[in-house]
Amino acid sequence: SEKLMSGKRGLIMGVANDKSIAWGIARVLGNQGAELAFSYQGEALKKRVLPLAESLGTPHLFECDVSSAESMDALFDGLRDLWGSIDFVVHAIGFSDKSELRGRYVDTSAENFRMSMDISVYSFTAVCQRAAAMMPQGGSLLTMTYYGAERVMPHYNVMGVAKAALEASVMYLAEDLGKDGIRVNAISAGPIKTLAASGIGDFRYIMKWNELNSPLRRNVTQEEVGKAALYLLSDLGTGTTGENLHVDAGYHVVGMKAVDAPDI
Ligand code: NAD
Repeated sequence: SEKLMSGKRGLIMGVANDKSIAWGIARVLGNQGAELAFSYQGEALKKRVLPLAESLGTPHLFECDVSSAESMDALFDGLRDLWGSIDFVVHAIGFSDKSELRGRYVDTSAENFRMSMDISVYSFTAVCQRAAAMMPQGGSLLTMTYYGAERVMPHYNVMGVAKAALEASVMYLAEDLGKDGIRVNAISAGPIKTLAASGIGDFRYIMKWNELNSPLRRNVTQEEVGKAALYLLSDLGTGTTGENLHVDAGYHVVGMKAVDAPDI
């Protein structure tokens, strides 16, 4: 039977290792027949990303630091040379100095605020500008966010403010690009143990809290995020844009600690 991503080509940004959410998404898309290219940040990560990409049968790798416009232009020039057009992009990139992912938000420095907003928010808009120009037949663009955008979560601080801006940008991008048949969505994932997450203070406590108090009484997996991404990036999702799809075992509907949840 025809696979859901057969004939679709796209870019995966943000694989650092096999724990990365981007890798969970890539695996599901690859198994559904997508043709994938990967971008990685800096040569040091290439030795990690190359074997992962090869395991899905794709040799298409590009170095890209999203804080540099030249680096972004080079990535999309490379993709244009490779394929001409693309069908989707997955943006799974965020960054803040981890010294500010603990303590108080009120103490955030101007420098780290600007850097976090640039790498975690503006980079998705910059990706959309370049990707949309390569989507004459329409397409689907996806970014990753977290509930710390909607409610105060411990230690999330400047990243919560950045994710709120990212979620707002998804709405504006959806409106701007919708006329061209390009959909723009976010997935709000529950906590998953990754390299980026390990920079957040008390991350193990946050995971335990979500496990004990989410409606499904567990955490989500990389693969579950991948399956939701498959919906948004394939033709299953053609009616959905500007959406923030929560893949968090239902945690976002919870108002207080569950009565049956044990103390941590
Ligand atoms: P990860 O560390 O595996 O991925 C983060 C990626 O961002 C890395 O590949 C890193 O190289 C890349 N990156 C950072 N700065 C960059 C730059 N200047 N240029 C290019 N790439 C850069 O961690 P992850 O948890 O898979 O994070 C992926 C996304 O998912 C992030 O946006 C994160 O905020 C989001 N998210 C994570 C969780 C979680 O609990 N892990 C929950 C919700 C949302």
